[in-house]
Amino acid sequence: MLLVSAIASTPNRPSNMRGRSPKHLLEVADVLRRRYRDFNHYNLTDPLDELIFIICSTRTTERGYRDTYRALRQRFPTNGGLSIASVAEITEAIRQGGLSRKKALQIQGIFGVVQSRFGRPTLDELRSWSDADCEGFLLQLPGVGKKVARCVMLYALGRYVFPVDENCWRVSSRLGWIRRTRRNRSGSPRDEDRLQSKPPPRLRYSLHVNMISLGREFCSPNNPNCVECPLNSLCPEIGTRRMGEMGSVAVSIANAVPEKCQNGAGKERLALHRMPSTFE
Ligand code: SF4
Repeated sequence: MLLVSAIASTPNRPSNMRGRSPKHLLEVADVLRRRYRDFNHYNLTDPLDELIFIICSTRTTERGYRDTYRALRQRFPTNGGLSIASVAEITEAIRQGGLSRKKALQIQGIFGVVQSRFGRPTLDELRSWSDADCEGFLLQLPGVGKKVARCVMLYALGRYVFPVDENCWRVSSRLGWIRRTRRNRSGSPRDEDRLQSKPPPRLRYSLHVNMISLGREFCSPNNPNCVECPLNSLCPEIGTRRMGEMGSVAVSIANAVPEKCQNGAGKERLALHRMPSTFE
């Protein structure tokens, strides 16, 4: 109990208020940019290619969807060829990525809408549209929600939007930037709008790609590695103190770690860090 109080009162442990301040957001963005250098996760610059690439990424690993998209492009090198392919042919081409028939139906449905709107299989015309018009059109495509629409806009149309994928949602929640209105993996559409409004427009790309990197490397859903996370001095949910604050070892305590950290693997990692003798 004494240790919990000591950790809670340390000046370097951010309060929930600090976790929600604009300054805190800038500090986080700076740390993440220095670590991950805005790595773009192999996203594409053509808006229709990017949309198909995102569909291929549903419910699979990064390696898995890159291989799936590559296989699709080997079978159908152009969008002209893909636009006249049957569902069975597309399903076969993307089989390795899982949910292949569902994804094939979605791809074919998207080509149908795009073809009837623009007369050819391209989304290039969106480049001259306003953000609101782009998002409105993309949201009409089969199976496309705000996250996917904004990914296309961010990566392929150069817009200052902030797609909220599972990683961005989880990291933002743990950093105290947004309060969950429902307990799911990616927030409601309203949550996505609220979260998008927080980063300054020119920081949105950097924060988005770097939060994905952090979510994959440290801030995982069930076993966040708070001890080694580069944000651990800025995170209100961290259960450790910085190295050197209380001697030469980091201090950790299961009662002070986030709910998600309190599982076997998390405790195991935390237990590697000895508590200083004054608290033993
Ligand atoms: S300190 Fe832990 S909870 Fe906070 S961002 Fe890092 S891994 Fe996630």
